[in-house]
Amino acid sequence: MQIVTGVHQIKLPFPSGTPEYTNAYIIEGSKGNILIDTGWDTSEALWAFKEGLTQERLKFQDIDWIVITHIHPDHYGLAAKLKKLCEAEVLMSKTEAELIIPRYKYFDGLLDAIDEELAQNGVPRAEISELREASLWMKPLVSPDLPDVMLDDGDRLSNGSFEFEVLQTPGHSPGHICLYEPGKKWLFCGDHVLFETTPHVGLHPQSMDNPMRDYIDSLKMVDALKVNFVLPGHGPVFNSLKLRAQEIFLHHAQRKKSIMKIMRNGLKTAYQIASEIPWKLETNGVTFKDLPPWDRRLAILETIAYLKLLTLENEVGKVDQNGVSVYLAKD
Ligand SMILES: [Zn+2]
Repeated sequence: MQIVTGVHQIKLPFPSGTPEYTNAYIIEGSKGNILIDTGWDTSEALWAFKEGLTQERLKFQDIDWIVITHIHPDHYGLAAKLKKLCEAEVLMSKTEAELIIPRYKYFDGLLDAIDEELAQNGVPRAEISELREASLWMKPLVSPDLPDVMLDDGDRLSNGSFEFEVLQTPGHSPGHICLYEPGKKWLFCGDHVLFETTPHVGLHPQSMDNPMRDYIDSLKMVDALKVNFVLPGHGPVFNSLKLRAQEIFLHHAQRKKSIMKIMRNGLKTAYQIASEIPWKLETNGVTFKDLPPWDRRLAILETIAYLKLLTLENEVGKVDQNGVSVYLAKD
């Protein structure tokens, strides 16, 4: 689909069906063409990309640079294959590049560390195994490869028609970047701001120390920019960045409030708190026990991220009880 002349969106299917697609964008320029994000390493996604190129009257060789907003498999999975097919350079933030080897080459080690974190947060052993099983399917759906160019916050990227500024927006992933075109007031924002869902922010071995704080600060940063058009990694493109940012700020404020309320009934583990929160409020709410295992794992890691933020804001106290962290509201 051509969004405007020279800017194309190709929808790449998800293996799991939720969300349905990753949005890849091709931005044509007088000096070369940029592809933003690549989708999962599946034959269906590769086929969809090839079909999309044909529909837009483009070829693999027309792509000169592949910019990865972050290394989650739905954005980075196909990067290595597309790099070869397009003979293009892959660019991503340095912070994100450093996560590739520990995440994808030492996948089992990362899962062990997450299992340990879940145990410390009160998740029963039997459920830890179920949650681990639920993440194994994605391992073969990424071809890990290091980038050709490392980007830093404030770097410029020009293709002759678009003069992008690289914005480091940590939170959803520590080295997540957005591409901002200040002249046109366009923001390609990966998973930093989505129109239909609130981007996941979790505390885990590959996140920063306080990812929820990072996320909120990064959202404030893009909220202060002049933006007329937002092109996200999933869901529809939209105009109203400020309005959407306000909705996400409100979502986080409400979630913090409901966590504080849950803790009024005494000492609780992150697992107990997560199991009392109504999740997926965008789609009328789902109880924790009705979430599929993969989403339950994300829900627990997100609850831990909120508890870390609340602890550092001095709203919550944390005590160790036989190797398990329990939390208490301070007022
Ligand atoms: Zn994504």
